[in-house]
Amino acid sequence: MHSTSTIEISRSALRHNVRFLQSFLHPGVRISSVVKANAYGHGIDPFVGIAEECGIDHFSVFSLDEAYQVKKALKNHAEIMVMGWSNPKDIDWAVENGIELYVFENEILETALTAAKKSGKNAVIHLEIETGMNRTGLVDKDLRKAVAKIKANKEYFRVKGLCTHYSGAESISNYHRIQHQIRRFRQKQRLLLKAGILPEQFHTACSAASIAYPGTQMDMVRIGILQYGLWPSPETFIHFTHQQNDRTDPLKRVLSWKSSIMSIKEVKEGEFVSYGTNYLAKTDMLVAIIPTGYSHGYSRSLSNQGRVLIKGQRAGIIGLVNMNMMIADITGIDDVKIGDEVVFIGKQGDRVISVSSFTEFSDQLNYELLARLPQNIPRKIVD
Ligand SMILES: *Cc1c(COP(=O)(O)O)cnc(C)c1O
Repeated sequence: MHSTSTIEISRSALRHNVRFLQSFLHPGVRISSVVKANAYGHGIDPFVGIAEECGIDHFSVFSLDEAYQVKKALKNHAEIMVMGWSNPKDIDWAVENGIELYVFENEILETALTAAKKSGKNAVIHLEIETGMNRTGLVDKDLRKAVAKIKANKEYFRVKGLCTHYSGAESISNYHRIQHQIRRFRQKQRLLLKAGILPEQFHTACSAASIAYPGTQMDMVRIGILQYGLWPSPETFIHFTHQQNDRTDPLKRVLSWKSSIMSIKEVKEGEFVSYGTNYLAKTDMLVAIIPTGYSHGYSRSLSNQGRVLIKGQRAGIIGLVNMNMMIADITGIDDVKIGDEVVFIGKQGDRVISVSSFTEFSDQLNYELLARLPQNIPRKIVD
């Protein structure tokens, strides 16, 4: 059965972005591809497959159920790391399958130890340190407990990483807070080494930190938004292109979102369009009905604001975005027929609708818009 809209994922765009990442990361820095939230809406299954083709061999997710999805999607033997919540009920599975776990509470360490004893495999762990974000992360007293527990059960643990997360590296307004976090992290590194624990790698940087604070790249970077072809913030884009002395965007968007026209109608001057009195036709018009609405992830806040591409031209959304439909003004666009392609995000002819133009109207973060794209829209890999 065909869906009312499709999300396309570009293999060549991803290949381009991965090369770009490799071009500015310090030599030897490993990329962990962050694919939480259904690979930022791109779809874990197709995205992981093409990322592996591009040479990615480490993936990061938020939770164990996502790790399970990534594991199913893998064609090779990439490693998987859970940066967030590991449900204790699933830790046996995680340890059995070598899934790497963030430890930010000693309970996780305890459960992982039990699982390791049961399965005969090491629990692979990353100690997450509280450095100033005050979200998840071990504070000193808990870190000391964790160290004692690990030393007493050395044969059951593989301490793969020591890590933290910055509290907003995409904005210069957080500069001092980030610097403070970097210093704290260095202190904890020394503390751990003194205690006789040597993690295999240190990792702290997300996309924005990798660019704005290159010293945070360390052994591995956890890259989400950049690999999808988008910037963490306009500020990060300006920072990067200014440094390079070149204003062209080095990234390519991986995702496009498309539908097609289901009905076309003439509307007479003075008539209202869609529910209520939100849109009044000021002249005779031609409108196209499109089978996508807020239940499909097209925000209602784009009512009377959004733009779509039809026949290579921009068409405005008129009236309220409904649950399953929206209406576009196609007055003056020649030759439009039922079944013609409608682009919400992406290219058609010479025109482009970017995620950022979308998010400016709807006051969402690009992260949020992507992450909210419904899982049930089919994803299709294109070149
Ligand atoms: C989401 C996330 C990242 C990736 O962030 P981007 O800004 O998309 O690169 C890195 N680390 C952690 C802990 C995260 O939660």
